[in-house]
Amino acid sequence: MKVQSINPYTEDPIRDHKALGRPLVEEKVTNARKALAEWRESDILERRKMVKRIARRLLTKKKAYAQYITEEMGKPIKEAVAEVEKSSMLCSYYAKNVKKFLKDEPLKIGGKSYVRFEPIGVIGSIMPWNFPVWQALRFVIPSVIAGNVQLLKPSSVTPQSGGVIIQELFQRARFPDNVFQVTIGGASVGNYLVESKIDAISLTGSVQTGIEVATAAMKDLKKVVLELGGSDPFIVLDDADIDKAVAAGVSGRYRNCGQSCLSAKRFIVTKKVSKEFTDKYIETAKSLTLADPIKEDTDMGPMARNEQRDRIEEQINKSVGEGAKILLGGKRPDTKKKGYFFPPTVMTATNDMTICREETFGPVAPIITVENNEKAIEVANDTEFGLGASIWTKDIIKGEELTKKVRSGIVYVNDVVHSDPSMPFGGTKKSGFGRELSRYGLLEMLNIRTVVIN
Ligand code: NAD
Repeated sequence: MKVQSINPYTEDPIRDHKALGRPLVEEKVTNARKALAEWRESDILERRKMVKRIARRLLTKKKAYAQYITEEMGKPIKEAVAEVEKSSMLCSYYAKNVKKFLKDEPLKIGGKSYVRFEPIGVIGSIMPWNFPVWQALRFVIPSVIAGNVQLLKPSSVTPQSGGVIIQELFQRARFPDNVFQVTIGGASVGNYLVESKIDAISLTGSVQTGIEVATAAMKDLKKVVLELGGSDPFIVLDDADIDKAVAAGVSGRYRNCGQSCLSAKRFIVTKKVSKEFTDKYIETAKSLTLADPIKEDTDMGPMARNEQRDRIEEQINKSVGEGAKILLGGKRPDTKKKGYFFPPTVMTATNDMTICREETFGPVAPIITVENNEKAIEVANDTEFGLGASIWTKDIIKGEELTKKVRSGIVYVNDVVHSDPSMPFGGTKKSGFGRELSRYGLLEMLNIRTVVIN
């Protein structure tokens, strides 16, 4: 079996990668367990040095790594460079803080007693294609620096940028053999990994995959962290600064061609400002450059796969059948030119339409007009997802009050949702459970151990 990566701009195959069979996955897991014994006892200073080497290499090679990302999944090169830079920042963040994060915590129960943080062991991670370097490293780095060993399965869409180059990074940073390994393949290889003798698994992917991975992992009670899809509300209240909301909303919706878990996906706008917001939003969306992603001035490249484009088109058409009105874009470019392009799309919608009920992974902004602020919050919460949310109002006291009413893992007032190494990241409801990033993300893969000495 092979995995073939395809350039979504030229539609040409890039290269073939051999997919692993179950025996080879199991062999890698056995090797990982052998490596664990020494790695978990290794000097934390040495581990920090290795992670710092990864941080440095990511910066010195950022253009080359960014090109791999763009070539495999179509992200504009300027966004791919930013992804690599942010991944470097993440490595530096954990290298700097890990000692503090792992320090024993005294317990106040008398005698000598404390909480100690120990690695869980052999950890699997299964990743998507939309931020191939960032998503892999944001989970792998804290897990490895804390003394676990790792097996990463990248998406079959991005075997090179999400797998091969990550393996190379670890080798060049002089990690011992088998502390970090890559298992290339599709869903079945992910399943071999989950069913192998690993101790815990983290998945970043769709809700359906989350259900499948969690079900398989529960057969022998492996710990699971799930970072799944979202349908984030972007709530524009009567008193919002419309110009700022529009600028942020356009960039928050169309970055990465709309293929981001925490994109603003439902624009919920009060009646009073709906016309102004919609008109300005369309004008700004029209100004985006849809072109070859390798060019520096491109704002939107192609979608990562043709199936992604079929899916978003199907969701749009279904919603039009349900009464939605297209205000901009709405169908693939009418041209013989290659590339899985889809234009920035804006439509009116109500929250019961397909475009709002399902996760949309493409450049479409449904605008839902609601009567008032209370209704806006009610509509925002009427979803099975709960990843991020943003609220726009000039009254920051009211904004902060409303953060308590919106159900999500992350909430921003007057900004679009974004991630940072120092902030916990993750969802609630069907957006998953567990956290990544910050100290909370690191603790997910640790045995938080109570030690009492009498
Ligand atoms: P996907 O669920 O199709 O695949 C994700 C990974 O799981 C891939 O590596 C795939 O090969 C593997 N996989 C699929 N079925 C499997 C199975 N039964 N057992 C084991 N492994 C299996 O998702 P995708 O299309 O690669 O990525 C897009 C999805 O990821 C969207 O839903 C998006 O919202 C979500 N996502 C979430 C976050 C987050 O942090 N919450 C971040 C990025 C993407």
